[in-house]
Amino acid sequence: MALLELANVETAYGGHITVLRGVSLQVEEGLLMVLLGANGAGKTTLLRTVSGLIPDQPEKGRIRFAGQDVTRWEPEAVARLGLAHVLDRRGVFPELTVEENLRLGAYARRDEAAVRADLDWVHGLFPILAERRRQQAGLLSGGEQQMLVIARALLGRPRLLMLDEPSIGLAPRFVEQIFETLLRIKEQGTALLLVEQNARLALRVADYGYVLETGRLVLEGPPGELAANRNVRELYLGVE
Ligand code: ATP
Repeated sequence: MALLELANVETAYGGHITVLRGVSLQVEEGLLMVLLGANGAGKTTLLRTVSGLIPDQPEKGRIRFAGQDVTRWEPEAVARLGLAHVLDRRGVFPELTVEENLRLGAYARRDEAAVRADLDWVHGLFPILAERRRQQAGLLSGGEQQMLVIARALLGRPRLLMLDEPSIGLAPRFVEQIFETLLRIKEQGTALLLVEQNARLALRVADYGYVLETGRLVLEGPPGELAANRNVRELYLGVE
């Protein structure tokens, strides 16, 4: 059974602006899935629907995660099952230190020894966070803050990590580093669902991809297949 499964999901804002129009997709355990789509296609809405951030949505359809029907659950309840949604790097607490921010990701855990081991692991993934552990998080660069919010999510030991455009606005060296890290997170057993504008890079790391257009999935397949598709090439890869 898939770790996450959406079946005919329909989401509307304010009860009348329908954004997702019957979306069915699956995220398998331990794989990196990418969701492509133009601005306004509904990618962010899809992630927010899954994590319970849009009250009383989806209007129709079912969402299953980790063996349970989580449709219209509260965000905290879905998170407890092992779903982490990295919203935005502005989600760092600027007045707190890097270390304090990281520890917030483990607030629900009582296994201090394992938390410390996980801190070491994320410090290995992002050495800059170890170097800056005592600095205020607000002093980090945008790329470093992005690393911090990903690392903080990992400290909750999620089974699925959902990321919304982690590369946006970052210098290329940070983008490369973050994508490299996504592969290492996957190797450690966490599944990933990645929304990404940088289709070229996303298709290089993904195991499987979906393309969303105005609230409907129009295409899916392994990255090689998507990259060979004419529409994907024109719309998302900028090649004829
Ligand atoms: P982008 O890459 O631009 O974020 P996206 O694919 O993530 O695009 P969404 O942010 O999910 O798309 O937005 C899909 C549609 O839903 C857009 O038309 C947007 O205007 C609308 N929308 C998003 N949030 C709300 C909201 N809170 N209330 C009403 N409409 C919304």
